[in-house]
Amino acid sequence: KRKAIIAGNWKMNKTATEAAQLVDELIPAVKDATCEVVICTPFTDLVTAVEKTKGTNIHVGAENVHFEKSGAFTGEISADMLVDLGVEYVIVGHSERRQYFAETDQTVNKRTLAALNAGLKVIVCVGESLQQREEGVTEELVRMQTKIALRDVTAEQMANVVIAYEPVWAIGTGKTATSDQAEEVCAQIRKVIGELYGEAVAEATTIQYGGSMNAKNCEELVAKKNVDGGLIGGASLKAADFAVIVKAA
Ligand code: 13P
Repeated sequence: KRKAIIAGNWKMNKTATEAAQLVDELIPAVKDATCEVVICTPFTDLVTAVEKTKGTNIHVGAENVHFEKSGAFTGEISADMLVDLGVEYVIVGHSERRQYFAETDQTVNKRTLAALNAGLKVIVCVGESLQQREEGVTEELVRMQTKIALRDVTAEQMANVVIAYEPVWAIGTGKTATSDQAEEVCAQIRKVIGELYGEAVAEATTIQYGGSMNAKNCEELVAKKNVDGGLIGGASLKAADFAVIVKAA
């Protein structure tokens, strides 16, 4: 089976001091993982995370990246800056970025391309709102988000792309998608990738579920055929909980 990845998305949590402590707890807790383990941290925690995880099985990612290479973009961080620090992954198009920071499918695509071209691995987030699900447009919406995010991404670059299906209504709400709902949409995403890149690429692409995944519900979700691990918010902030999820994948 393709690679399962459990990635923590710390969001806007943990000072560098707190991050050091959490990483120290995580290293022994996940050392026997059979899946790939990633922690995506605030920019200010990346140096600490990269330094501390050297020689361990924990990979480090950022939570966003700007699409321009350099220049007058006050407050932004480029892909080259992340690569130079030793960062390996970056999350792109998280629904919180789309919702609060005016991220669009077009800018998600630009960030994806910039990150891939700099040599980063990209976790592209897609997912519908509650209203969209109730209107029955989940499949169309996720199909469109996936297609636009991947515009101009080559089949070779797909080896460095992970898709995270994160229904917006399940994020931070304690309301998890059922494993059948997660499986259904992850399978649809795999179908879209197959249409774009062919069966082999589709079968090799890691597709995660995210949204209130925790130590209790993780096992059922990751057991699904098309769910290759998870993108974990709240439950990634406690080493013990995160370790349980890592073990399930
Ligand atoms: P929660 O696990 O806190 O619901 O967050 C999910 C998420 O947004 C991960 O990117």
